Amino acid sequence: MSAGTLTAAQALLSYAASIGAGFGAGTAVNLLAGRVQDEETSVRGNQCHTCGAPLPAARLVPLAGFRRANRTCTTCGKTASLRAPILSLALALVYPLLLNHILSSASASHLPILVIFAIEAVACALLAFIFAVDLEHKLILDIAVYPALMALILIAALFDHKALAAMLFGLIIYGGLFLLLYGLGFLLYRTEALGLGDVKLALLIGLMIGWPAIVQALILGGLFGAAISLLLLGMGVATRRTYIPYGIFMATGAVLALLLTPPFW
Ligand SMILES: [Zn+2]
Repeated sequence: MSAGTLTAAQALLSYAASIGAGFGAGTAVNLLAGRVQDEETSVRGNQCHTCGAPLPAARLVPLAGFRRANRTCTTCGKTASLRAPILSLALALVYPLLLNHILSSASASHLPILVIFAIEAVACALLAFIFAVDLEHKLILDIAVYPALMALILIAALFDHKALAAMLFGLIIYGGLFLLLYGLGFLLYRTEALGLGDVKLALLIGLMIGWPAIVQALILGGLFGAAISLLLLGMGVATRRTYIPYGIFMATGAVLALLLTPPFW
């Protein structure tokens, strides 16, 4: 199956389904990200992070959270961030773009197009989760990294050895670079200038994006990080000492690389 063999109706249905999948993934990612809390509080999904009261179910409807009333706790009046609607909208935009990109890239993969789309869609949802948790908690969770690392290696080892080589080379380049930076930061500043979480994320992204697209992921992530940092410095929101979690830029660079470079599968 390729773009050329799809009828107009099939194409329309596929794109509509991918948008729906994006909204669904957005809701799931938001519920999971909402469960990552500071150790004192235990929040389960759709609950107010301040008082623990259940939040309106309307908040789970994609985009409904753009209305302030749907994000505000009726018990204590605290308003949740715009994370949920923005993340849902982002994934609902990324998924059809991803589908279009995979359909239009000539691929000699052993895997069907639907499987490649599913792998990359799950990868984008995971990157969205990592982005949200790193932004809100300055943390990259092991549970977000290691199972995906194992699953990707297993899929490639079983079905696509050419992809496995590209993945491992990507892992060595990106993971190796961050390990080097981590070591340098330790030597120069005697402290963790770069978090070990960023090194773990680099290993995962290296595997997800593979060689040679990992170079684009690295450059796009770096440019995005530099642009946002300069903007925050220029606006006076941040100073040179402000800690900005770098994982959010790595994750964004990775999603852009998935959308812009030919898939290695
Ligand atoms: Zn509340």
